[in-house]
Amino acid sequence: MTKLQFYNSLSQKKEEFKNIKEDNVEIYTCGPTVYDFAHIGNLRAYIFADTLTRILQYNGYKTNWTMNVTDVDDKTIAASKEKFPELEPKEALKRFTQEYENYFLNDLKKLNIRRPDHIPKATETIAEMQELIKSLSKSGYAYEKEGSIYFNIKKYAEKYSYGQLVDLDLSQIKPGVRVSTDEYEKENVNDFVLWKAQKAGEPSWSFEIGGKSFPGRPGWHIECSAMSKKHLGVPFDIHTGGIDLKFPHHEDELAQTSAGCGCAKPVNYWIHNEHLLVDNKKMSKSLGNFYTLFDIEKKKYSPLDFRFLCLGAHYRSKMNFTWESLEAARHGLEHLRNQIRALDSRLDTRLDTECSSAFEHRVSKCGEKFISAINDDLNTPRALAVAQELLKSDLPEEEKMATILDFDKIFGLGLSRHMEITVSEKISLKDEIFLVQMPKDTPEEVKELSERRAKARQEKNWSESDVLREQVRSLGYEIEDFEKGYTLKKR
Ligand code: AMP
Ligand code: ZN
Repeated sequence: MTKLQFYNSLSQKKEEFKNIKEDNVEIYTCGPTVYDFAHIGNLRAYIFADTLTRILQYNGYKTNWTMNVTDVDDKTIAASKEKFPELEPKEALKRFTQEYENYFLNDLKKLNIRRPDHIPKATETIAEMQELIKSLSKSGYAYEKEGSIYFNIKKYAEKYSYGQLVDLDLSQIKPGVRVSTDEYEKENVNDFVLWKAQKAGEPSWSFEIGGKSFPGRPGWHIECSAMSKKHLGVPFDIHTGGIDLKFPHHEDELAQTSAGCGCAKPVNYWIHNEHLLVDNKKMSKSLGNFYTLFDIEKKKYSPLDFRFLCLGAHYRSKMNFTWESLEAARHGLEHLRNQIRALDSRLDTRLDTECSSAFEHRVSKCGEKFISAINDDLNTPRALAVAQELLKSDLPEEEKMATILDFDKIFGLGLSRHMEITVSEKISLKDEIFLVQMPKDTPEEVKELSERRAKARQEKNWSESDVLREQVRSLGYEIEDFEKGYTLKKR
């Protein structure tokens, strides 16, 4: 079997993966800052992290995956103040961020991203952050200035190395020059803030160092150091995030954990995904090219079309999103589903999907090619090509079916669900013909409700259509829209 390899940002090369603890692999993913909806670039980062954990499991490892939620930082505080000026700052922050966290968790579900084992919130890990800062202060890596606490890079660089994930010009370090914002440019290699002194109207927590009290709130970087330490320990195996997080966020996280825990290599593999661009540009609200999953669904694409699109690009390549590329992905996924439906209809007996985990399928020629693709630094585009090769091969049909369902453990496209879709009906709403695809045994009540929903959508009555979708859901069915119709699936 091809050995599992990842590109490690620490060594800047592909390395064979070896875990620390027998069988178990510990993974930390920098989660969203919940001050707005996640955009499709963020979602690419989480599809990548999900694919990574799926590949580890496919290789027989158990995984312990932690993804944090940043619910206190410069952005969440500013936005929560604006939204709830009348509320006490901590309450405003909680109310404001909870809403976006819920949207985010819902996005994960829609994209078939498995729920991480731990999803800690920063505000619930404050005590651990304070402990780490105390430890840094005790060992001389942190100092106070006007009620805030900063990390001393010069002192750190005497014992450890600063600039492990990016090339830095350390001659630029000017002792005593500090940055207090959570994000900053590479040109400013300055002491960064661990704890920010309390400001009027901002949420605040307090703790003591050497008998002195420090009311305030954490800097962004210390949050991830504390949350990964709490849930995974030090050292742990894999840390993921988008490429923009390498500096300063990950470099600073690395420095804090190393110095605070006396461990020169707190993470063995740092794996970063490249960015998603829209029309070859960075997404931004001012350019009008900032999209969320909701925008995708509004245009009647399914979240899984987007997942399929992401799988078609290697995670370390820039991915250029256009509506044309999403349309092509929709066609590609539909084609794959049709191939599976056709295969299913030719089989005499329904396969028990669980039996597809049997290892024999993986020793077939296609199985081997598939593993060598995914184990070669998550080469999902190649794995998708192997799936096509498999479906076009002359292997026995049962074996083909079992193998493709086995591959779907990595793709996460819910392919087994589509075997049930055996009937299509045409319905006429006003003067338009809609195609409805659904499991054979779909109850009349579900059919009727979803038809009413299609009518409400046609009339642009979105609130009515949302209510009807929920009713269909409560009966155990999900609706996926496509251009002139919809698919009903069992949930
Ligand atoms: P944030 O909520 O800004 O902290 O970002 C959450 C995650 O999304 C981080 O891992 C970012 O590096 C990643 N990310 C942000 N923008 C993009 C993008 N355009 N493409 C891919 N990943 C991104
Ligand atoms: Zn982080």
